[in-house]
Amino acid sequence: MPSDDLSVDELEGVEPEAPPDVPRDAVLSVRNLHVDFPSDDGPVHAVDNVSFDVFENEIVGIVGESGSGKSVTSMAIMGLLPKRAQISGEVYFRGRALRDLPDKQLRRIRGAKIAMVFQDALTALDPVYTVGAQIAEAITVHDRHIGKADVQDRVVELLRLVGIPNPGHRAKEYPHEFSGGMRQRAMIAMSIANEPDVLIADEPTTALDVTIQAQVLEVMERIQERTNSAIILITHDLGVVAGLADRVMVMYAGRAVETGTVDEIFYSPQHPYTLGLLASLPRLDEDSRRVRLHRIKGQPPSLVHVPSGCAFHPRCQFARLPAPCSTEVPALRAIDDLDHVAACHFSEDVVKVRPDDLKTEAS
Ligand code: SF4
Repeated sequence: MPSDDLSVDELEGVEPEAPPDVPRDAVLSVRNLHVDFPSDDGPVHAVDNVSFDVFENEIVGIVGESGSGKSVTSMAIMGLLPKRAQISGEVYFRGRALRDLPDKQLRRIRGAKIAMVFQDALTALDPVYTVGAQIAEAITVHDRHIGKADVQDRVVELLRLVGIPNPGHRAKEYPHEFSGGMRQRAMIAMSIANEPDVLIADEPTTALDVTIQAQVLEVMERIQERTNSAIILITHDLGVVAGLADRVMVMYAGRAVETGTVDEIFYSPQHPYTLGLLASLPRLDEDSRRVRLHRIKGQPPSLVHVPSGCAFHPRCQFARLPAPCSTEVPALRAIDDLDHVAACHFSEDVVKVRPDDLKTEAS
């Protein structure tokens, strides 16, 4: 291992100080994260008390509409929020609170050990450098002792790993010579250059057509199998997490509203918002001419004026108003399996309803 690479040994200089509710074997843990942004209309409550863990070798999907707080959560983990953001809560990497780490270690962790794939590869890649040069820089910035030939070999290996054909030749090309799907894969290659323990992919396939989306997701799966890294996959599309994630956290109006395994979320949703999202997905075995998909009524709320009590109550067909739904914020709680939790006062009723029950016959 190169001398200035960040090893677990180096981290051992910083004692794990995580509280007992942070599992020792979690690679990344977020606890009670709050993020507010000041605005002329008052504070924007972008993330409200979000906690979750990510373990080695697993893919966690964070799902929600735009404005649900999922991307702000990932930016907070990466330290990429603007200075005006008011942040509280903790992020632990292997049990160490990031905010206790010296700047040098923190910089190495963010970038090398926790890496991010952004939504828009075209703007994230620099148009004036070849793709190979940009991947090489990602390698050398965290490993200054690596030889030139080794860097080139690694660049080609990474491009091959993400499925770029003829990688030796392609490394010498510029981003504009790559298709959208290839650019996205090149960015994934850059972000895994230092074999991160955690890869955060923020809507990695949104800008791509469906076939290319599937190829990029396959690449992510292959990387995860090869490297055992943990992946946080952020998406507005439950369909994307269905085939890929092990666990899912559904967010609404800055809060986590349901967390469970992918099977629990898809087969026995306990929160009306998750149920509504599932009922809005077409099924392969369904005749689209006969079935009308569900639409969740209304719009996501303003994060300046988050509805009182349960933030979903103005859109919820299960709501009992005014109390308790508009008066009490529901806590995340389990009905049976302790790892499957939902923030709804009436999860016991919701779980009896199937997503198909919300679909209607097309007239
Ligand atoms: Fe709907 Fe009430 Fe549950 Fe909120 S707490 S999701 S409003 S039933």
